[in-house]
Order: sequence, then C-alpha cells, then structure tokens
Amino acid sequence: MARIVMKFGGTSMAGTERIRRVANLVRRHQAAGHEVAVVVSAMAGETDRLVNFCREANPLYDPAEYDVVVASGEQVTAGLLALTLQALGCKARSWLGWQIPIHTDNAHAKARIGEIDADELIASMQAGEIAVIPGFQGIGDDGRVATLGRGGSDTSAVAIAAAVGADRCDIYTDVDGVYTTDPRIVAKARKLKAVTFEEMLELASVGSKVLQTRSVSLAMKEGVRVQVLSSFVDDDAPLADELPGTLIVSDEELEGIEMESQLITGIAADKNEAKVILTRVPDRPGAVASIFGPLAAANINVDMIIQNVGREKGETDVTFTVPSADLVRTQALLEEHKETIGFNRIITDAKVAKISIVGVGMRSHAGIAATMFKAMADRGINIQAISTSEIKVSVLIDEDETELAVRILHTAYELDDASGAA
Ligand code: ADP
Ligand code: ASP
Ligand code: MG
Repeated sequence: MARIVMKFGGTSMAGTERIRRVANLVRRHQAAGHEVAVVVSAMAGETDRLVNFCREANPLYDPAEYDVVVASGEQVTAGLLALTLQALGCKARSWLGWQIPIHTDNAHAKARIGEIDADELIASMQAGEIAVIPGFQGIGDDGRVATLGRGGSDTSAVAIAAAVGADRCDIYTDVDGVYTTDPRIVAKARKLKAVTFEEMLELASVGSKVLQTRSVSLAMKEGVRVQVLSSFVDDDAPLADELPGTLIVSDEELEGIEMESQLITGIAADKNEAKVILTRVPDRPGAVASIFGPLAAANINVDMIIQNVGREKGETDVTFTVPSADLVRTQALLEEHKETIGFNRIITDAKVAKISIVGVGMRSHAGIAATMFKAMADRGINIQAISTSEIKVSVLIDEDETELAVRILHTAYELDDASGAA
C-alpha cells in the first residue's frame, strides 16, 4: 500500500465524460489499497478563456483580481470530480486552496507556495476518503486567493505530495511521458523512460510545457518521486505502480535505467517570448540597471539579454526577451522610466520563438552548440539572439520557423525514433 498523489491536466478533465474516466482511474488506484489525493486542472481551454475576460475588462489588470477570476476553473473541476467519485460509490471531498490551507506569497498571478498544513488532509486520506484538490491555487499572506502561474497545477501536485509525504506523484496528461521533444511537433520524437531532475528543469524552463518549471525544482528539493503518464488509457491498463510513464530521477538513478546516454536529451520550443529592443541607450554604468530594475520590481522575468557594441559613440542598443504575457506591462514601465533610462525608441517583436537544446552531455563534449548553429544555417534560419547555460543552448528565431527548426535539430542530434514512426 502506498500514499499517492494523482494529478490530472486540462485535457483529462475536459467534460463530464472524461471526468468519469478520471474518476474510474482514481477508484482503481484506491481499490488497489492506496491512499489517494487528487489534484486537478481546469477543463482544457478554460483558463485561457478566463484570462481573456480579464484582458478585455482591463488590459493592465490587477493581478489579485485576475487570480479571483482564473482560480475559478479549478474549483469547478474539483467539485465535479468529487461528485463523480461519489457517484461511483467512493468517499470523496474537495479541498479548496484556502481550506487546506495552501499558503503562498503575495506575488499574485505567479505566487510561490510556502507552507502547507496537511494534517487534516492526511487524516481524511487515512480514513479512506479521496481528497480532491484544485490545482493552481492557494491563499496569499494577504488572505486573498492566489494562483501559481500558468501550468501551476503540476506544482500544486508536487507540493501536496511533499506535504503528505506521498510515495509518488503521478502527473497524468495527454501524452504518455516525456519525449525528446514535443511529440505533437515531431512525430519521430522518442519517449524517455527517465529524465534527470536537472535536465527536466532546463527543458521545462525553456518551454517544454509538459511540467511547470517550479514543479520540477520543488520535486528536486523535496525528493518527490514524479512520474509523467497518460490518463487516456483503457480500463484494464496497468496501474501507475508499474511505472508505464517517464520517471524524473537523480543522475545516479538514471544510470540504472537508461543504458545509452545521448549528447542531447531534449529539444524545446517556446513561442511565448517577445523581443524588446531599446535603441540608443547611453553607454555608461548604471544604464542597464535602470532598465531592468523596474522590470524586476514588477516581477517581470527577463530572459535573453544582448547589449550591442555602441554604434554611435556613447550609445548602444539593448535587446532582451520577456514573456509575451508581460509585453504590454513591460512597454508601459519602460515608457514610464524613459527619462531615467534615456533611450530613444522601443521596438518590440512578439513573433519570435526560442529553441533550446538540453543535455548533461554538454558538460563533457565540445562542439554541441556549433552543430546547432550549422544545422540552422544550412536551412537558412537566422539566429537573433543566443543564450547558454552549462547544459543548455537557446537561440531566438522567427516564430514561423519554429517547427522546422525543432525538426532539423532533432535529426541533427540523432534523436529521431528509428522504429519507423512517421
Ligand atoms: P496538462 O493539461 O495535462 O497539464 P500540458 O498541455 O500542460 O498538459 O502538457 C502536455 C503537453 O506538453 C503535451 O500535449 C505536449 O504537446 C507538450 N510537450 C511539450 N514538450 C514535450 C515533451 N518533451 N514531452 C512530452 N510532451 C511535451
Ligand atoms: N489551469 C491552469 C492553466 O491552464 C493551471 C494548470 O492547468 O496547470 O495554466
Ligand atoms: Mg500543464
């Protein structure tokens, strides 16, 4: 018998029929003797719909009110799953973020989870009741509902797993594991039996949305065993205990699982970045700080940064990327600080994509980035910006070339599934 957390994403929760399948899967795991907590996402498309309402109401929306709106999607699915489980004869109840409670900080729309007091939750699980928890939401120090950033239900699930001391956190989604790249873009993507925390962290942070970045860092920190697997399975499919999906593991554990290690583990694409160019910024100490200080204070994550060599004496262009969702606020903030920064013009481009290759093999092998640049050059893809870390290289390109770039890199690093998939 184990204590498990089962998390279901938006596609798995889209409509009463799918919720019934989820309920059945949960019931089977409880029937196998497990204590079960379930974390659910809003129905697919629902959070986007709610975000759009906020934008229509006020493009410069107050993040605290945005949270009030977007947290509602998960409340609906949590209640519906509890009802469906009860209809199957299971004991089940929903626990909203404030009821557990899941404490977060006050960074509305991208809050971080702090303490979770799980005593009551554990007692209810031990009494054979299935705990159904809406993902994505908690309660801020200010006493108001807070959400965890897009894709945040993964983080809710891992946090709950850590808080209840779960043996495993199973993240059910619409693909049957983590692949070398998004299997919806590259049909020849290969499923990985396991991937290390570090690589998954990089892949998630550069746009493999299969897991939210914070869920991976939290799992790494708390030592939570995470499996990514499909909820779209037959009623007699093996239970998650047989590990049909992809496990997120430590370096040491990986050695025992994946026999041959590749130079590159995965490739990710992110279309949710926007490029900002500030022209003719004074080339003097403090200029860059005056740009990024206000953005940091507004919780806007700047990613790639390039400061060009000054064209004119004493002036330079500064290029950087921010999440597309923060572009309007970024522009407004920069305009507000125009005097202090002293730039001439803001040029923005939301039609860019960041393509990244990730693999621990980079630590010990030279020339990996060169292969990437050459493969892209051979197909005439222009690189607008580059950034690297110890196990990652990212390039910024025209958004229209995203799929092509991912495919050619997948082939260039010999990741294509040889088993003949189309
Ligand atoms: P959920 O609603 O279950 O949270 P998401 O849409 O957030 O699901 O994440 C699952 C999706 O992640 C898949 O449908 C797939 O298109 C995408 N994805 C991106 N990169 C990968 C990858 N390397 N492996 C598997 N899926 C990936
Ligand atoms: N529903 C939220 C989103 O779409 C959270 C999640 O599904 O993880 O971002
Ligand atoms: Mg997700």
